[in-house]
Order: sequence, then C-alpha cells, then structure tokens
Amino acid sequence: MDKRDIFVRIEQMEEQMGTVYAELGQMKTQIIELIEENKRLSIENQQLRKLLKKDAEQPVAVETQVQVMAAAQAKELTGEGYDNLARLYQEGFHICNVYYGHLRMEGDCLFCLSFLNK
Ligand SMILES: [Zn+2]
Repeated sequence: MDKRDIFVRIEQMEEQMGTVYAELGQMKTQIIELIEENKRLSIENQQLRKLLKKDAEQPVAVETQVQVMAAAQAKELTGEGYDNLARLYQEGFHICNVYYGHLRMEGDCLFCLSFLNK
C-alpha cells in the first residue's frame, strides 16, 4: 500500500465515522423522544385508571369526565400531586413549566428545584 492509498483510505474512514456519528446523534434524539413519550403515556394511563376506578364506584356522565380529568391535573399541585411531581423529578424528568415532561439531560434544573421548594 503506497502513501497515497493510505491517505485515500483514511479519508474514507473519516467519512464513515462522520456518518456513524451523525446516526448516533439521531438515535440519541429518538431515544430521548421515546423515553419522554413513554413517561407521558404511563402518567396518562395512571390517571385514566384512577378515573375508571372512580367510574366503577360511582358512574359519572361523559361530559363531566372532562371536568374530573381537569380536577385530577389541578390536584398535581397539592399533597399527593406534590409527591408525584417529586417522584417524576427523581426519575429524571423536568417538572418545571419551562421544560415539563422532558428528560433532564444535565443534572439538576434550577426551575424544577425552585418549584419543589415552594
Ligand atoms: Zn426543569
């Protein structure tokens, strides 16, 4: 293999590494999106299960279910809701209204912490 061939080969490898690097970045973005979606869906699932349980105990009219849902979300800000948010934060998600539901990629978030300390 002469010197010129070596340089051609190195350039090819550089190009391949660039492609792999770009693909890695795309996969990382997709994984973050999937983790966030999974968390949103599991929270929604929990809330729906609660509604279903309430329905079984005491049937609610369809139009009031929307109100129950809104009340459940409003409850996030009190007692039980605070615990849920604290747990969500511990699991690595934002609970601040700036990035709510997004994965915390860089450790603690000052917005979230100030919210938790209220
Ligand atoms: Zn945050």
